[in-house]
Amino acid sequence: MHDIVAVDAPCTNCGYSLRGLDIDSVCPECAHPVRRSLERRRLGLASADYLAALHLGAGVLLLGLILAVVIGGVSALQYTTLGTFRYAVPLVVWPSLDFAASALVAFGVWKLTIDDPGLPAHDQARGNARTLRAAAFALPVVHGVRVLVAAASGAAAPAPIAPLLPLLDAASGVVRAMLVLGLWLSIATGLCNLFRWFAARLPDRALFSRARSAGRILPFVLVPAAIGPAGLIPGALWLAALVWSGRGKIARAQRE
Ligand SMILES: [Zn+2]
Repeated sequence: MHDIVAVDAPCTNCGYSLRGLDIDSVCPECAHPVRRSLERRRLGLASADYLAALHLGAGVLLLGLILAVVIGGVSALQYTTLGTFRYAVPLVVWPSLDFAASALVAFGVWKLTIDDPGLPAHDQARGNARTLRAAAFALPVVHGVRVLVAAASGAAAPAPIAPLLPLLDAASGVVRAMLVLGLWLSIATGLCNLFRWFAARLPDRALFSRARSAGRILPFVLVPAAIGPAGLIPGALWLAALVWSGRGKIARAQRE
């Protein structure tokens, strides 16, 4: 006589419901042993220190993400007709703010991806954690380089390359934008995988399926958001042309 899973517990590997299965069998979806899904991996049974680290990591990560979105939105306004404020602040301010936000994200990711001391090595989801950490730690490095470049840009350029500077500036801007977008996509994908892993350990099937669909939708949300400022440029030019022609009409009306 074998025991049957009587609760609505998900497979901790793929999320499949194990209710009604033999406790000594394997998951029909991914062949993960049913017994392993039922023991040890519940987050509620994890150590208090580990849960405190997750709590801190999630809070700091959230703060960093909100800050990054706000900075991204405000700095995108530079490329619209509101862009005059761009010159009201020193150029080093924008990369410094990006650096601060991405440093918070990196700290949060670091705390969220530490090993659970209650789990054996093969259950740690380390592959995803490594990729996620690499992307999260690379982001403040990229923004840190931008801070240094902006701080150094006050110095005069050597005469032979001075005429090339605007071209170099534009080229490095495109490369940097692609790099930052790639890192954000890696971080977003890694976080979705991480939260799916946590959701399976709660266990909460609704949260699990939300984390899974977020993982599919997120790239389609992030890419237009990243190229959004580029899309604003034609709009800003059109607005500027409108204001210019309006000004011309007003000037003519005053003369007549
Ligand atoms: Zn499974």
